[in-house]
Amino acid sequence: MATKTVTVPKTTKEGFNPFKMAQQQFDRIADKLGLDQPTRELLREPLREYHFQIPIRMDDGTMKIFHGFRVQHNDARGPCKGGIRFHPQETIDTVKALAMWMTWKCSVADIPLGGGKGGVICDPHNLSEKEQERICRGWVRQIARDIGPFQDVPAPDVMTSGQHMIWIMDEFQTISHGAFQPGVITGKPVALGGSRGRTEATGYGLVYILREVLKELKMDTTKTTASVQGFGNVARYAAELYTQYGGKVVSVSCWDQNDACSYGFYKKNGVNLEELLKITDRFGTIDKDKAQKLGYQITPGDDWLTHDVDILIPAALEHSITAENVGKISPKVKIMICGANGPVTPEAEDVLDKRGVIVIPDFLANSGGVVCSYFEQVQNNQNYYWTKEEVLGKLDNKMTDAFYHVWDLAQRKKVRISDAAYMIAISRVAEACKMRGWV
Ligand code: NAD
Repeated sequence: MATKTVTVPKTTKEGFNPFKMAQQQFDRIADKLGLDQPTRELLREPLREYHFQIPIRMDDGTMKIFHGFRVQHNDARGPCKGGIRFHPQETIDTVKALAMWMTWKCSVADIPLGGGKGGVICDPHNLSEKEQERICRGWVRQIARDIGPFQDVPAPDVMTSGQHMIWIMDEFQTISHGAFQPGVITGKPVALGGSRGRTEATGYGLVYILREVLKELKMDTTKTTASVQGFGNVARYAAELYTQYGGKVVSVSCWDQNDACSYGFYKKNGVNLEELLKITDRFGTIDKDKAQKLGYQITPGDDWLTHDVDILIPAALEHSITAENVGKISPKVKIMICGANGPVTPEAEDVLDKRGVIVIPDFLANSGGVVCSYFEQVQNNQNYYWTKEEVLGKLDNKMTDAFYHVWDLAQRKKVRISDAAYMIAISRVAEACKMRGWV
């Protein structure tokens, strides 16, 4: 079973409360939209929040109690949707913030789903496969009556994989008297109800939007260059499709497991994704010596953002572009399109905005993943499956539509893209709550 990295990704920086930040973002847009008090009160907190204990018999025979969460932020537009994270420093505030952001992401992509998130405080690196299976099954036993294909649909997230999803689906089936309901969860392997195209969806979805941005800016893709942070799922497929469209990726980067720091891999004439993949280990670390022999220049840490390119694609982790390093970005950069969640701090975005750089926010740019998860659920519920071409075609339509709604509003109201995206997302959810008579 694959847990991709051995480092434990950090969920929060010390003293930083992601839920407070999510609420501040919401309050700012609520002011712009002039939302009434009851709607504000409803949307700035989750509708439901579950905390539970999961007693597990460990392999050595001892009992251990794990703590689990599920947060359903809002389901006015459809069942909640959002991942389950396994993390030793998981906090309820992280889960609440992520659930709220999922509501906005589903809404801006205009899919009929709400926002949810879940987690278990645990470190899979210190757990056997059997222990992880018991945690997944225990998690479902505690929350089964409150999730389901038409209530709340979890998915993989930090340190959970397709295998975890299958255990959850299987336990849910046992609890529901054997009813086959693969739509209770997404991110499953294709052999057991997963969607074709899911692997590519987030990276490709980002590039469908990038293609339209370039069109609007009247830039010829084949004359553009990009620098990418990361070489994981999102980064690889974004780089692949952008290259297929004729763009040139001059740099990718990765976390080096051995040196415990990050490096960039730069080639002026464009990186070759296939040759780099051949020298990448199972933890995602690219072999520096082999890359050097292939003509790559190895650059330190932040250097991926200093190259003279038209496009920057942060697709690795949060808090990558900050007030401290935003000044290093080349004046040639015109577009930053965010594949990772939360890669640009608000201070850095202000600086980029003043410089005239177009920033496409994460919850729009990386929404291809959740759009494809929605397609998985639709296929599960109808028990009929689409080809990869069908899935990617539908994904392209959804991403392109979502982008133009946001772009047009940004032009009309003369606001930045991220504000326009939030305005659309929040007003759709507010409208659904109003129509239901909730506020
Ligand atoms: P991944 O684990 O497949 O890849 C992460 C990549 O980032 C790896 O190549 C790793 O080496 C690199 N990396 C880690 N730290 C780095 C650093 N300091 N500098 C440079 N590179 C570094 O993850 P992923 O699925 O590609 O996700 C990347 C980001 O996109 C995350 O923020 C994730 O939450 C977000 N995201 C992913 C999806 C999805 O469908 N995979 C959907 C939405 C959002």
